[in-house]
Amino acid sequence: MDGAGISRRGFIGQARDTAVVALAAAGAAGSVLAQTGGGAGGSVVARGRPMPDGVSLPSSPLRPKRQDSVGYAVVGLGDYALNQMMPRFSRSERSHIAALVSGNPEKLRRVGDAYGVPADARYSYEHYERIAADTRIDAVYIVLPSGLHAEYAVRAFAAGKHVLCEKPMALNSADCERMIAAGERANRRLMIAYRVHFEPHNMEAMALMRRQAAGNIRFVRTEQLSRTDPKSRPAENWRIDRALAGGGPLEDFGIYGLQAALYLTGEMPEAITATTFQPRNDPRFAQVFASVASHLRFPSGAIAQLMTSYDSDGSNIAHVRGDTGALIMDPATGYEGHKMRLEGRESRDFSLGDPTVQFARQLDNFSDAVRDNATIRTPGAMGLRDVRLIEAIYAAAGTGSVVRLSPDGRMRR
Ligand code: NDP
Repeated sequence: MDGAGISRRGFIGQARDTAVVALAAAGAAGSVLAQTGGGAGGSVVARGRPMPDGVSLPSSPLRPKRQDSVGYAVVGLGDYALNQMMPRFSRSERSHIAALVSGNPEKLRRVGDAYGVPADARYSYEHYERIAADTRIDAVYIVLPSGLHAEYAVRAFAAGKHVLCEKPMALNSADCERMIAAGERANRRLMIAYRVHFEPHNMEAMALMRRQAAGNIRFVRTEQLSRTDPKSRPAENWRIDRALAGGGPLEDFGIYGLQAALYLTGEMPEAITATTFQPRNDPRFAQVFASVASHLRFPSGAIAQLMTSYDSDGSNIAHVRGDTGALIMDPATGYEGHKMRLEGRESRDFSLGDPTVQFARQLDNFSDAVRDNATIRTPGAMGLRDVRLIEAIYAAAGTGSVVRLSPDGRMRR
């Protein structure tokens, strides 16, 4: 980090991690940090929230399919847990919901009844430690706001449980390292829930790019854009709170564009430049960025342009341009409705089946890791790598200069 970052480090006093410094250097949330004196995750607490919109609970309890099915405690009953992941446990071969952790007792009761989770396997955040004695729970699935991931993962490891954690792994690399160390100490597995690694179009895209179906990659362009509206969508409230969401859109869905740039090129970037935008007088962006754009240069010469925003018309694309063709994914990384086209020597549209298998296959991979020590496709090391790159993007934006990286994503000093 350059001199600007270091002087900010002094300014914010107790800042414990590079992300805090990078965010402060980038200008966003820097003043907020100074006011609160908090580091990422420092002053946040888990709190129950109302039932999200659109939840349809199962009409009959789900039963494990196999004797060796892995029992999960779902931690945080929010929009993604209730509307996407929990209904997909029934499609996993070897995973079942064994327990729930929530700060909303009424929701705990309704969801517990619907999913057939026994009353004595429903926990509050205050009683989270009690999962240690519950032998029905093999693993926890952490679906809390991102600033709470590290704390609840470390405490789950201390309770002897395996951890499947939502993305982003944490809001700074020091917390990611803490999570990995806690898992190693407890001899338990850790996976980051990057579902796209189990989605048929994205898996085929990785294979196509590995066999150079568009030739040598010259450019990758990704857009993960939406217009945030916390007033009408309650799940977006914590997403504009720096302590829970970091810099905002990049950690939330921009991370999928970053991931795509890495798994499509098959490389780690060696240099990054970036720009952030945080409008004045818009309460949505008092603490987080509205937009983040970055350029990543890879050792092969490929260049990726990543754009992510909470204040734009929606888009979710990944485009690759090689020296003999192109791959166009639009939409690229959503829950369903993927479209993918290869142009060039072998032009074709791909129709690769139901993208929603990604949720259950992700669970299967982790359950196989827990039971049979299978290799985890998206381990903690991958989550750490991505958070280091996010820190580098903020550092580049904050200093206005090129940040150079080691092959493991660490910033070169
Ligand atoms: P929601 O706001 O809908 O749900 C979060 C839940 O966390 C709440 O309902 C609440 O559950 C619990 N919670 C505990 N403390 C707090 C707090 N201080 N503020 C708000 N909620 C709190 O968020 P999402 O479900 O959309 O996101 C949760 C996680 O899932 C995030 O890490 C996000 O990045 C990730 N995610 C991943 C996606 C993917 O594609 N892989 C897609 C969407 C989200 P309760 O009331 O039960 O206590």
